[in-house]
Amino acid sequence: MAFKLEDFTKEPKIAYFSMEIGLRNDIPTYSGGLGILAGDTIKSAADLSLPLIAVTLVSRKGYFRQRLTEKGTQIEEPCGWEPSRLLFELPQRVSVWIEGRQVWIRAWVYVVESITGGRVPVFFLDTDLDENAPQDREITHYLYGGDLAYRLKQEAVLGIGGVRMLGELGFEIKKYHMNEGHSSLLTVELLRRFRKDIEEVWDERLVWDDERVRSLCIFTTHTPVEAGHDRFPYDLVKRILEPVVPLHVLQRFGGEEVLNMTRLGFNLSRYINGVAKKHGEVSKQLFPGYVIHAITNGVHSYTWTSAPIKRVLDKYIPGWANEPELLVRAGRIPSDELWDAHMEAKRILFQYIKEATGEELNPEILTIGFARRATAYKRPYLLFYDIERLKRIGSGRLQIVMAGKAHPKDEPGKKIIEKIFEIKNTLRDHIRIVYLENYNMDIALKIVSGVDVWLNTPLRPLEASGTSGMKAAHNGVINFSVLDGWWIEGHIEGYTGWAIGPMPTANHPEPDTDKRDAEDLYNKLENVIIPMFYENRHIWTKIMENSIGKIAYYFNSHRMMRRYVTEAYIK
Ligand SMILES: *Cc1c(COP(=O)(O)O)cnc(C)c1O
Repeated sequence: MAFKLEDFTKEPKIAYFSMEIGLRNDIPTYSGGLGILAGDTIKSAADLSLPLIAVTLVSRKGYFRQRLTEKGTQIEEPCGWEPSRLLFELPQRVSVWIEGRQVWIRAWVYVVESITGGRVPVFFLDTDLDENAPQDREITHYLYGGDLAYRLKQEAVLGIGGVRMLGELGFEIKKYHMNEGHSSLLTVELLRRFRKDIEEVWDERLVWDDERVRSLCIFTTHTPVEAGHDRFPYDLVKRILEPVVPLHVLQRFGGEEVLNMTRLGFNLSRYINGVAKKHGEVSKQLFPGYVIHAITNGVHSYTWTSAPIKRVLDKYIPGWANEPELLVRAGRIPSDELWDAHMEAKRILFQYIKEATGEELNPEILTIGFARRATAYKRPYLLFYDIERLKRIGSGRLQIVMAGKAHPKDEPGKKIIEKIFEIKNTLRDHIRIVYLENYNMDIALKIVSGVDVWLNTPLRPLEASGTSGMKAAHNGVINFSVLDGWWIEGHIEGYTGWAIGPMPTANHPEPDTDKRDAEDLYNKLENVIIPMFYENRHIWTKIMENSIGKIAYYFNSHRMMRRYVTEAYIK
């Protein structure tokens, strides 16, 4: 690949920092929603020719490859990849001091090119260099691997190293956009860079030009629970980080007791946002005193639409991929053609399932999909809350396709997968359940387009946004979800899909939330969804059409990026 740096350094850029970025399946530097969102952000920026560049870590060993034993026990295998196969190595080097050693960093670049001509370079930082000590060569190996010290080192490379690398490459940056707190240390490097001349200024506040840093920074939070935010004790910080700024300055912006990366990012950003309207509200309660906006997430329409659906969209709504607003005219698509395209996507998924597991599913049977990180708050078990009832409702009329990795340290998450495997065997003669291994971008596209109903059952209010339901909607797959995150904004009962459980205004969580939510889920499945699927294909395809015309038309990353431009980037 030829890469000319000068093509990109001529105009000032917005620098988008993310610990994980999911651009394509064979660059395994993502673990889930956060990384996929970053990838979709970059793709839309390229389509819209926005002056954006991105920075991440090279994560040479990827996240991990998931194997599942017959009992559903997760085995994690390294998922190494070779950057030189797809990326271009740049000659520039920068360094950061970590644990008293100078750690050298290089960057690899991958350019996302749009058919519109827009190009966005993504810089993958890498410490695996001969000149580094052996332990430092591994800093950019494992995405979300290792202990707290390892994470802090990674964040130093990403935040501090990233800013230095962009400077070394000759970029002028007009905004720094932090996608979550993993890159918050970039603010500290900016404080150092813009320090006023100490000879002249005596007020300590003025020495650190935090106002200038703030005017450059944007912070997007994704975590609606306090415990989910990265924090580091200061003795660890002192041991590992070079003193870019004095400790008391770090404490002023990042918290007195522990270094809280979200607070650091918040205190040094002029624009802060959550990723759905509800999440913005929840974030305000978590962090009183900050002005927190909301820009609801979206997905990259072209990436997340299956080939058969693309064909009908191209036929009836030409131009939709780079102007997803046009999907508002989904009503032009004849229902039988939409249905046929959907059945084609269903066959593609079922073919894959047959190859991967040997299971043969029946395309005539209503198929529910559930795939996402296997973790307790997403409640993958809610559908199985009352096995007997599920059996009564769904015997011979329902099939279920699931997938998802549990984080290697998430023991409850791993237990959930085992539990589902047990249920899969119990229900075998009544309801077919398939659990696909190694959920990734390719499998995600197959599942979100190849099932009939997309189920999401998070414990409110813990789903900041969620994006897989938006992918499903792009494919005419109908959402059936708890009213949390983005779905609060997309849901019209019986028109764009169905809700599970209480209205979003209800208090949460209640002690018997699982029971009540499960009851509502079963009631709707039994009385509304199953009868409609088998007896009223006309209404069913209407809701499929609305999924495209009312949901995909809005919940795409083109709309999201236009929001970031007008609300955050050009202010
Ligand atoms: C879209 C996507 C996610 C995010 O799914 P949610 O349901 O929003 O949590 C996670 N992993 C992969 C591989 C995805 O494609």
